[in-house]
Amino acid sequence: MAVPKICVIGACNMDLISYAPRLPKLGETLPGTRFQMGFGGKGANQAVMAARLGAQVSLVAKLGQDLFGENTLANLRANGIDTRFIQVTDESFTGVAPIWVDESTGNNAIIVALGANELLSPQDVAAAQEVIEAADVLVCQWECPLETNLAALRLASQAGIRTIFNPAPAREHLPDEAYRLSDIFCPNESETETLTGLPVSTLEQAETAARVLLGRGAARVILTLGERGSLLVTPDQVHHEPAPAVKAVDTTGAGDAFVGSLAYFIARGFSLTAAMARANQIAAISVQSPGTQSSFPSAADLPPELL
Ligand code: ATP
Repeated sequence: MAVPKICVIGACNMDLISYAPRLPKLGETLPGTRFQMGFGGKGANQAVMAARLGAQVSLVAKLGQDLFGENTLANLRANGIDTRFIQVTDESFTGVAPIWVDESTGNNAIIVALGANELLSPQDVAAAQEVIEAADVLVCQWECPLETNLAALRLASQAGIRTIFNPAPAREHLPDEAYRLSDIFCPNESETETLTGLPVSTLEQAETAARVLLGRGAARVILTLGERGSLLVTPDQVHHEPAPAVKAVDTTGAGDAFVGSLAYFIARGFSLTAAMARANQIAAISVQSPGTQSSFPSAADLPPELL
């Protein structure tokens, strides 16, 4: 079997998670009970997921010249990811997400400071043309500047490379060109609501909203619906793939586990419905243990029939 090749354009962040019995008030210093760091950023997460399944993954990203950047690079390399097109800049800092968690309720407050991710430019994408054109699938999210994503989607589309656009986190307006360049447009429920202004509480509503996204130019839409699984809508097909019933302990990163897995199975040549079913299974595994990348399984942990 040829090793599937995936190119991910996207963000790397360091999650800095402090736990306390409650959230601090304005101006208050509160003793915390524990602290944890985790590698995050949707680009890095999706790249790690696809690499753990066995893909050859190149990540195009930007880091600051700091300790978090060094650690991030080491983590990506430890996951076997090609980091040749990750630039290190002294003009900003590596993206960080300081997170406060109230241990009594599980509520949290997060500040995401994207730093160097916001400097990832169309020129950086042009410099990575060789890995984009060599890929079976290109994957983008929306934590990096839209112009950068569009530059990558255009290159891939001109080269006939399949594209997955995960518009996360969503804003209300996305130019139609981004839809037209998406072979698979893959938002979650709240992103779909933001983009369309429509509710996505039932499967019927989800299908209606997906048709709005198709109308804007996406070739195919796959909505992720949390514990309800995922929904494929194309001009001539609707397919709901239910999620396995599992006991979720931490759903953080489930969307990234799904998108990274979907890219892998599509690059392997599986049909869309078979790829969705497998991505559902792998995302469902990820929600059963805590953390983001730490909850993503590797090929060796999975039953061979899933791969
Ligand atoms: P997050 O923001 O938490 O990373 P998301 O909102 O982007 O996730 P979801 O739609 O919640 O993405 O979940 C992605 C996929 O993960 C779902 O399509 C499903 O396959 C799986 N999943 C999520 N939650 C559950 C759950 N409780 N049980 C089983 N599978 C789940």
